[in-house]
Amino acid sequence: MRSHFVRLVAPIFFLIAAFALPIACFAQSSSSDLILINGKIITVDTKDSIAQALSIHNGKIVAVGSNDQIQKLAPKNAQVIDLHGRTATPGLIDSHCHFDETDRIYGIELSNITNISEAVALVRKTAASRKPGEWIQGSGWDEGKLSDKRYITASDLDKVSPDNPVWLTHTTGHYGVANSFALRLAKISNDTKDPTGGTIDRDASGQPTGVLKETAMAAVTDLIPPYTREQQRNGLLKMMADFNAEGMTAAKDPGTEGIRWDLYQELLKENKSTVRIFALLYGGRTMESARATFARLQAQPKPPQSFGDGMLLSGGVKLYMDGSGGGRTAWVYDPWYKTPSELDGHNTGYPNIDPSTYRQMVKLFHDGGIHVSTHAVGDRAIDWVVDTYADLLKEKPTKGLRHGIIHCNIPTDHAIDTMARLQHDYDSGYPETQAPFMWWIGDIYAASFGAKREQRLMPYNTYTHKNIIWTGGSDYFVTPFPARYGLWSSIVRTTLSGSQPFGTAESVDIHTALRSYTIWAAHQLFLEDRIGSLEPGKDADIAVWDRDLYSIPSDDIKNIHCELTLLRGKVVYTAPDSKL
Ligand SMILES: [Zn+2]
Repeated sequence: MRSHFVRLVAPIFFLIAAFALPIACFAQSSSSDLILINGKIITVDTKDSIAQALSIHNGKIVAVGSNDQIQKLAPKNAQVIDLHGRTATPGLIDSHCHFDETDRIYGIELSNITNISEAVALVRKTAASRKPGEWIQGSGWDEGKLSDKRYITASDLDKVSPDNPVWLTHTTGHYGVANSFALRLAKISNDTKDPTGGTIDRDASGQPTGVLKETAMAAVTDLIPPYTREQQRNGLLKMMADFNAEGMTAAKDPGTEGIRWDLYQELLKENKSTVRIFALLYGGRTMESARATFARLQAQPKPPQSFGDGMLLSGGVKLYMDGSGGGRTAWVYDPWYKTPSELDGHNTGYPNIDPSTYRQMVKLFHDGGIHVSTHAVGDRAIDWVVDTYADLLKEKPTKGLRHGIIHCNIPTDHAIDTMARLQHDYDSGYPETQAPFMWWIGDIYAASFGAKREQRLMPYNTYTHKNIIWTGGSDYFVTPFPARYGLWSSIVRTTLSGSQPFGTAESVDIHTALRSYTIWAAHQLFLEDRIGSLEPGKDADIAVWDRDLYSIPSDDIKNIHCELTLLRGKVVYTAPDSKL
């Protein structure tokens, strides 16, 4: 610990430890020095050191050590937060989060319903306050959590919404259901063919059920008027506040289309940003769309360059190689299962982009020095993505572009070995994963993957043995965003219904899980020199918890409660019931 000390330049005054002030005063105070004492500070440095205290000057960590050491070094007028034994960690980082709660504010929230009639009742209630023809939107439903154990269909919704188009997005975002009014507007009928990369779900007689998957959704979703600028701004502000309340201070946002990037810039200028954002732009499905995205990215500074001193980064591009595990559209070698014992015919999913076009698109970005993160869930999609990265890196060796594999659910042995090699040789090939899939959509996942594949899901323990680093995340709105759920899922691998179909052979301990939500995630945001661990020279992004993550039973980790969050040494959240 001692070797980590940096001498303070400021004169050292005698410090009165009893000088603790309530938090409210800190937020208003102008002094730039702050110390935290009497804590269990999990630093997540290379030795996983624990400290008692740390000091902050101008938002940066100056020293980490014992109470005595820190108090001796701190200037007299430094503010003091006495942690009274509580545990602090680096601010937690979500490496894949659709960073937007606009839907949650203005749409119908369906993530907590337990049967289809509840969804129908909510649509009925909303329809009563809408003019004929006005859209009704909702999101978050999941047939795995419904007692009906089936999709919501147009015929469920039609009786309560005869005069309004309705669109309800599934929790995965990879499918949704339209009512018949919306299907008519979208010109979807019995005769409509499935689009490339999409599925129009049909009943036994060939009639569309209302459920549209992947690219088939666009026929309906393109008709829905976007939220206003003010609504979207409110959605971002709510997301930032809710992140801070969970001890979270940074996110990689994989979809900054429309006005989102401008809104991020606007909030930053107004000093209202309280979460660091590493933004990806969607590259589309064609060379034409890729070139347009490439031009936009070339006009921005490349990471680790940033706006607002590490607050906002134009990170690179997001592409999709395939679809979803829950929707059985992800691209796999062996057929999907409809139920644990019944195959879904010969369905092996499909690529989202023509595979050779994908390769050309990645080449464009790679050769231009742009970071690429590709959505790949199925084993076949993951192989294609890592092989593409490997070939292009061989052709044009470039270190540090850190190309990512988003979700990376069931990598083959070949993919795992390739990622290990790419990380070692090129600082590339990083799985950007979501442990809470095993929990929140774990029951539909288990059924779809089948007994053999589900053991391979999120193979964290294998990664550890192969020296592969990965990042944690929520894929919010797919799963709830609090990172504590991901920490817990990485260890227990339990589904919402309480079963463990994925086994525990690939579990890791809390020390490793925490790295995936801190320093390893920071690396995939190109911010590892600034955040991700509590060490001298780094920004003071810190979360204080009511319990000690390292000593409580694993099952309690999902219930830890954030009491205080600092971003660059400033309090951005204090729990209303906190006694700190
Ligand atoms: Zn996503």
